[in-house]
Amino acid sequence: MTEGIFHIKDQPLIIAGPCSAETEEQVLETASRLQKTGKVDLLRAGIWKPRTSPGSFEGVGAKGLPWLVEAKKQTGIPTTVEVANAKHVDLCLSFDIDVLWIGARTTVNPFAVQEIADALQGVDIPVMVKNPINPDLALWLGSVERIKKAGIKNIAAIHRGFSNLAEKYYRNRPQWQIAIEFMRQCPEIPLICDPSHICGRRDILKDVSQKALDLDYDGLMIESHITPDDAWSDAAQQITPEVLGAMLDSLIVREDYQDNAPIQTQLEYLRKEIDNIDDELVDLLNNRMKVAREIGQYKKENNITILQSKRWNEIINRVRAKAENFGLGDDFVLRYLHAIHDESINQQEQVMKNES
Ligand code: PEP
Ligand code: MN
Repeated sequence: MTEGIFHIKDQPLIIAGPCSAETEEQVLETASRLQKTGKVDLLRAGIWKPRTSPGSFEGVGAKGLPWLVEAKKQTGIPTTVEVANAKHVDLCLSFDIDVLWIGARTTVNPFAVQEIADALQGVDIPVMVKNPINPDLALWLGSVERIKKAGIKNIAAIHRGFSNLAEKYYRNRPQWQIAIEFMRQCPEIPLICDPSHICGRRDILKDVSQKALDLDYDGLMIESHITPDDAWSDAAQQITPEVLGAMLDSLIVREDYQDNAPIQTQLEYLRKEIDNIDDELVDLLNNRMKVAREIGQYKKENNITILQSKRWNEIINRVRAKAENFGLGDDFVLRYLHAIHDESINQQEQVMKNES
C-alpha cells in the first residue's frame, strides 16, 4: 500500500463530521468535540448536498469552506468535502481543503466524474470515490480509473451501500460482495466503509462498523452531529462525537495476518477443509445440472413447459424450512436457490434447442 493520508497509522482511518455544515458554530463545536475523542483523522462536512428533492436543504455552499479552514486551525484535524463538479473542486482547492470525495450520486455519472477529473489534472490532492447508488462495480471502478488517469496518486474508495427500494433494514443495502470484489480487483486502493449511509439509523451502526473492520477495511467514515436530532440532513443516522468516541473504543481491530505458527497451521487446516467443501459443492452442482438436463429432455419429448411453478414453490418451501433448522439466513438461501434455478432453466433451454 502507498504512503499518505490514507495510511498514516496502522489503525483504521477514522473520518467523522456532520452530514452537512450548517453554521460556523456547529462546525467548530463538532470539530472540537471530535478532537477530544482522540480518534478522528479527518473532518468531513457536506457543503453542497445532492438531495433527492428540490426544497430539501441543499447545503450552505461556499460560505461554509472558511468554517472548515477555521476548524482545522483550531483542532489540527485535516478536512474533507464532497465535490460534484469542477467549480466545487476549484473552490475547495482555493480554501486548501485537504481531501476531496466524490458522492454516490456523482459516481453514477461519467460526464460529472470526468469533469472533476479534468479539474484535478496536475493537482496533488487525495480523492475518495464513493460507490455509485446502483450496484454496478464497473461504474465504480470506471470512476476510480478516471481520477487515476488525471494523475491523482492518493485514491481511496468508500463503500456506502446501494439503493434498494425493497430494503427496510438498511437505508442502502451493503451488498458486501461488491466491495469484496472491489478489494480483490484493486488491492492497492484503500477501502473505507461509510456505515452511516448504509444504516440510515443509529442502532446498527456499530454492527456494520465491526463487520467492515472484520472484512479488513482500511477505515470508517461516520457522520457525527452535536445535536443529531436537529440535524438539517440525515438526522436519523447521526451520533454525537461522544457516542462516536465510545463506539470506536468498543470496536475490535483484528490483525489481517498473525505471525504465529500454531494459528497459521490451524487456519491452513481449516482452509483446506473449505477448499474440499468447495470442490464437493461444484461436483454436486454438476450432478444437479445433469439431472436438470435429463428432466429437460423428458419435458421436450412430452411437450411440457420448462417452468413448473407449483414444483418450484415446493422446492423453495422445502429447502427454506430445512435451511432454517441450521440457522442459515433466509435471504442467502433464497438467493442461492434462485441462482441454481436460473442455471437449471438455462440448461433445460439448451436441451430444448438441441435437435436431437
Ligand atoms: C454524504 O456523505 O453525506 C452523502 C451525500 O453521501 P452519499 O454520496 O453516500 O449519499
Ligand atoms: Mn449524509
